[in-house]
Amino acid sequence: MARRPIIAGNWKMNNNKAQAKELVDGIMYGISQLDASKMPEVIIAPTYTALWQAYDLIKNEPKIALAAQNVNPNPSGAYTGEVSLDMLADFNVKFVIIGHSERRQMFNESDEFINEKAKAILAKGLIPIICCGETLEQRESGVTDTHIASQITKALKDISAEDAAKSVIAYEPIWAIGTGKSCDAKEANRTIGEIRKVVAKLYSQDIADKIRILYGGSVKPSTIVEQMAQPEIDGGLIGGASLKADSFVELIKGAM
Ligand code: PEP
Repeated sequence: MARRPIIAGNWKMNNNKAQAKELVDGIMYGISQLDASKMPEVIIAPTYTALWQAYDLIKNEPKIALAAQNVNPNPSGAYTGEVSLDMLADFNVKFVIIGHSERRQMFNESDEFINEKAKAILAKGLIPIICCGETLEQRESGVTDTHIASQITKALKDISAEDAAKSVIAYEPIWAIGTGKSCDAKEANRTIGEIRKVVAKLYSQDIADKIRILYGGSVKPSTIVEQMAQPEIDGGLIGGASLKADSFVELIKGAM
């Protein structure tokens, strides 16, 4: 069965109430003009403060799903500033982004913690979007594939084949995030092919053929068509270009 493409917008730390409403309204209007049968799975990942509002605005719009940008894997308790899976599920959040390079680098999140989150997310019936990617230095020193293989192997530790098949991976070269400099589509396709080989080795070719692997890193309306034409790329995780409804809707169209 063909893998259904995904277009996921990671808002990061952007959008107040008014901006969040304008963006969600704009996306809903844009997709109302599209052929639903051809649409990719559309995901938006607002900040926690905009989750309630986004949930409320899209509650009758099955074509958009919600993601959280983070989660704490513990069920409840004394974790000041954190949000649990129960709280996210309460807002109908379906996906959780984990292992984003910003969280790995700025908040010192380890592969082990990311694995803990992945297991908790799947146990709750939600889907992790597991990010991986290399720095420019790693790319230039030729360790991209081994670095990513290690990140993915550790993130998927003790996760069943069935849960792995449901999960989503996002390959996001760190040097391409927010820089305007997207990875060459063929090179992104090659690297994602390597990630698929890692999944095949960990589980089976069948699971590798099922798991959806996105590309992220300065995806724009002008790059999406070439990216989506690559056989290994199942969609995009998009930061900057997801913040304006018209460009996000162009990205959705580019994946149709
Ligand atoms: C991201 O944050 O995951 C990302 C890919 O950002 P941008 O599209 O802005 O490069």
